[in-house]
Amino acid sequence: MKTNPFISISQVEMHRSGRAGWLRAAVLGSDGLVAGAMSMAVGEYVSVSSQRDAEQADIGLETQELATEPQAELQELALIYVKRGLDNELAMKVAEQLSAHDRLGAHMRDELGIDQASLARPLQAAWISAASFASFAVVPIVALLIAPVALRIPMIAAFSLVSLAVLGAFGGHLGGAPPVRAALRVTIGGALAMTVTALIGKILGVSVG
Ligand SMILES: [Zn+2]
Repeated sequence: MKTNPFISISQVEMHRSGRAGWLRAAVLGSDGLVAGAMSMAVGEYVSVSSQRDAEQADIGLETQELATEPQAELQELALIYVKRGLDNELAMKVAEQLSAHDRLGAHMRDELGIDQASLARPLQAAWISAASFASFAVVPIVALLIAPVALRIPMIAAFSLVSLAVLGAFGGHLGGAPPVRAALRVTIGGALAMTVTALIGKILGVSVG
C-alpha cells in the first residue's frame, strides 16, 4: 500500500481499522453492479442481435420470393389457412384479401411467425436488461451498507431473497400466473445461485468484508 504524505499515520490507522472494510465492500458492490449490468447488456445485445439477423434473413428471402413467385406464394399462404381449418375456397379468399391489404405482413405473420410489432430490438433489450439488473443489484448493496458486520452475509441473502420473491410474484401477476408459485420458483432459483456462488467463493478462497 502506498502511503499518502498528507495523511498522518494515526489517520491511516484509524481509516484502516474503521471504515476500510465497509468502504471496500461498498466499492466492490458498486463495481459488481456496473460490471454485472454491462455484462447483462452485452449478453442480451448479442442474443437479440442474432435473433434479429435471423428475422432479417427470413424477411429478405420472403420479400424475394414474393417478387419472383407471387402465385406460388399466394397458394402457400392459402394452404397455411387450410391447415388451420378453413376450406380451400375460403382459405384462398382470406389469402387474397390479406395479400391485398399487406402481402409481406401476412406472410411474415402466418408463414414465418414474425410479428411486425415485436421485431427483435437489440439496443432496447440491452438497455432494459442493464437497467433492471442495476436497479435490483442495489438491494444487496443497501443490505451490505446497513447491516452490522456480523450479520452482513445473512442480511444480504435475506434482502436478496425477499426482493426476488416480490419480483417473482410481480412477474407472475403480470403474466397471469399464480403469484405464489412464480415467487417460489424465482426464490428457490436465487437461493440455489447464491449457494453455488458462495461454494465457489469458498473453494477459491475468496471472501468479502
Ligand atoms: Zn411466403
